[in-house]
Amino acid sequence: MKHQRICVLGATGSIGENTLDVIARHPERMSVYALSAFSRIEKLAAQAWESGAPVVVVPDDEAARRFAQAWPAGRPAPELRVGARALEQTAADPEVTTVMAAIVGAAGLPAALAAARAGKRILLANKEALVAAGSLFMRTVRENGAELLPIDSEHNAIFQCLPQTGRAEALAKPAKGVRRLLLTASGGPFRTVGLDTLPNVTPDQACAHPNWRMGRKISVDSATMLNKGLEVIEAHWLFAMPLQRIQVVIHPQSMVHSMVEYEDGSILAQLGQPDMRTPIAYGLGFPERIESGVGLLGLAALGRLDFEEPDLRRFPCLKLSFDALEAGQPACIALNAANEIAVARFLDERIRFTQIARVIEGCLDRLVGQAVPELASLGDVLDLDARARRVAEEFCQAAL
Ligand code: NAD
Ligand code: MG
Repeated sequence: MKHQRICVLGATGSIGENTLDVIARHPERMSVYALSAFSRIEKLAAQAWESGAPVVVVPDDEAARRFAQAWPAGRPAPELRVGARALEQTAADPEVTTVMAAIVGAAGLPAALAAARAGKRILLANKEALVAAGSLFMRTVRENGAELLPIDSEHNAIFQCLPQTGRAEALAKPAKGVRRLLLTASGGPFRTVGLDTLPNVTPDQACAHPNWRMGRKISVDSATMLNKGLEVIEAHWLFAMPLQRIQVVIHPQSMVHSMVEYEDGSILAQLGQPDMRTPIAYGLGFPERIESGVGLLGLAALGRLDFEEPDLRRFPCLKLSFDALEAGQPACIALNAANEIAVARFLDERIRFTQIARVIEGCLDRLVGQAVPELASLGDVLDLDARARRVAEEFCQAAL
């Protein structure tokens, strides 16, 4: 296989770090071309130094100044590119073969879409991009011959369990013989706590996921299970599957990463340690299997695998996500945007954990049903996203 030159969008995050770990294990097959980050610029400088990245993208001049300051004096520095436009251009750079889309939130959409337009191999971790613009994103992938490999562990598991055609395709209809997709969910840190304690849980408690170490936003999403809702929408777009054929199953051990149920009664599952380096290595090596640094799964030591139905009373965000997918694209944009605002306000301790669902619900009620222009372009999506954010901020203010 051709040597891959990789652009890591969101390099300083949890997925970004894991990606650099896997890349460093395979210098003969792949190298870093570009790294981007929004904050933690000193860490970005250390990553660029270690990986030998020739290009680095930062959001503004202040970040560029900090990067230059953090760089070892007298050593040749990477090319510094500045701003959102530069991020899109770098994702589409002719030098780049592969883009790891690991920015958190809808903020990652423009660069991921630029990679699709440029026909790159895209390793997609940034699920919010698909939730906000699924139809546009998938169409852009297909029309430009881009190769889309899901990195979210559930979707990566499903991808591994689907009929293998030898290449990663953007499906336009459900794969033949598949009855349903079974998406597993750990249930997060609050799966069994008393419902009356939920209004008083702290950000640190919400971020203490029992099985995975992740960024704070997705950790809160896992605690509300809005993350699983986003993943249902993500699965809908990635695998062209209607909502009625996607089932969420709670599986507290997080060892079965998801499953595909076939017409003949077979269920295929992918199992492994809860370590994102496995799906990342799958994406980087595809169609071959490469070493990821992840240890094997001791089945006897694990002993048992449990499964249960999710409780929609405990996890109202899950129900809101199903409703948004039924209602259509504008509702999905509003769901995601309202959640991003509500989670940020919860993390700065301005609203309670249980108010996250109420802010999203209020925002959906207000926006859905209003006349929305057709969402044909990235600009249309971003306009509605911005509107939903303003409404969500109002609801957060009112919740004070
Ligand atoms: P994180 O918060 O650890 O890292 C986010 C990265 O994005 C950082 O490098 C940050 O600098 C950058 N970033 C943040 N805001 C930005 C902006 N406005 N513009 C440009 N860059 C920005 O997040 P994470 O946990 O690594 O998650 C990244 C994405 O992957 C999310 O969409 C998440 O849902 C998805 N994901 C993560 C995991 C996981 O295990 N962490 C698993 C599955 C999917
Ligand atoms: Mg996931």
